[in-house]
Amino acid sequence: MSPNTVLNLLKNEIPLDEYNKYIKNLSYDQKNSNSDTIVFLAPNILMQRYVQTKYANKIARIFESSTGIMPSVSIGLKSFTRDVNKPQSDTASSTPKSTSTILNTSYTFENFVVGSSNQLAFAAAESVAKSPNRQYNPLFIYGGSGLGKTHLMQAIGNFAIKNNKTVIYTTSEQFLNDFLYNVRNNTMDRFRQKYRQCDFLLIDDIQFLSKKEQTLEEFFHTFNELHTLGKQIVLTSDKPPKKIAGFEDRLKSRFEWGLMADVQPPEFETKISIIKKKCELDKIYLNDEVVYYIATHMHDNIREIESAISSLGAHSKMLSKEITIEFATEVMKDHIKDQDLDISLNDIIRVVAHELNIKPTDIKSRKRSSPVVEARRISIYLAKKLTKNNKMRELAEFFGLKDHTAVSHAMKKINKLLQENEDFKIKVEELENKIISTKSKNGESV
Ligand code: ADP
Ligand code: MG
Repeated sequence: MSPNTVLNLLKNEIPLDEYNKYIKNLSYDQKNSNSDTIVFLAPNILMQRYVQTKYANKIARIFESSTGIMPSVSIGLKSFTRDVNKPQSDTASSTPKSTSTILNTSYTFENFVVGSSNQLAFAAAESVAKSPNRQYNPLFIYGGSGLGKTHLMQAIGNFAIKNNKTVIYTTSEQFLNDFLYNVRNNTMDRFRQKYRQCDFLLIDDIQFLSKKEQTLEEFFHTFNELHTLGKQIVLTSDKPPKKIAGFEDRLKSRFEWGLMADVQPPEFETKISIIKKKCELDKIYLNDEVVYYIATHMHDNIREIESAISSLGAHSKMLSKEITIEFATEVMKDHIKDQDLDISLNDIIRVVAHELNIKPTDIKSRKRSSPVVEARRISIYLAKKLTKNNKMRELAEFFGLKDHTAVSHAMKKINKLLQENEDFKIKVEELENKIISTKSKNGESV
């Protein structure tokens, strides 16, 4: 869809005099637009600010609803863009102060539920938003999928924009595309100027830049320059820096300059609060029994929990039915089925043995060499976490242990190690992910 068509569609959504006064005067700036940013030009700075704050989000949404992609919409000044290719010092005086990227406005600190699983990341994000470039630069947030990394990152952005800061929020894929686009068009000056002008650079899911050497090289320079200029950088990733393959050491060490904060799966109480918060925001009423049912039956990915709640809300509305526990169980059958991978003890042993290079039969034997003991403890821990048949006595029997106290002993040891040793924790998480992904792949192919 062409940008001008989008403005026409906007006409139906806003008062006509607003349209005539502001939107009609915009012109599309093809030269400065790219695959993820659409630029319109306003004739003066007042109109530019007004349209940027009031309508940029709306315009982006209209794009999104017809193309599936939410671009950033930026409103520039007609006079400014003519100078865009001049060196920065020349254009400094005419540079618009605040250009912002499209953020989800509901991703705020207020809408984020804090529990022990995410309190460090939350506190760090809030501190960075309020006092950028103090102790935590860069802020590096990492953790599993659906645990709130993007939410926290955008909360920083939303907060900063309210305070008139220039924010660039981009996924690493958009950053990569933008880079390639500008390389192809010989417009790297513009690329550099754009990224180096912001007060906050937020790059989401940085792990996807792995092995993209040229882009990483450019990112490295951007990073250094922003850091020297005292601009705040925030990055997210699914793993801590040292575990991201395909990044040079010099870059990983930069990531560790500031603060690394992880988000963990929510504890039960937090999960309950998140479900309640979501219901409050979406105006869906769930009784305690249903809330409890969702919290116990769904895994920890909050994105999936949210989609289950939305689907409950939609079904209830469509059928004009109250959401009782029977209704919820029926509607959520599919959501729960997806979660229920039916992992067996043998699935666990197979993956653990393979990954740690140990014979599966050794894990179930009485062998006491330390690699075998470790593999056995990990398997017991994962068995309790991932399978349903996790009665202590059954586990003892399966793993060749004397009795259930030996299982508790193994659990104690491993929990201690998980708390004390970050590398070990990551290793166990990776094993867990492998087990889950082999099962879900099998499920899909059936
Ligand atoms: P990630 O980037 O870690 O994959 P997201 O930030 O996209 O996860 O979170 C997925 C969804 O869950 C989002 O809609 C987000 O608002 C919600 N969410 C995650 N954590 C929380 C939390 N602690 N409180 C409220 N909502 C949360
Ligand atoms: Mg994310």
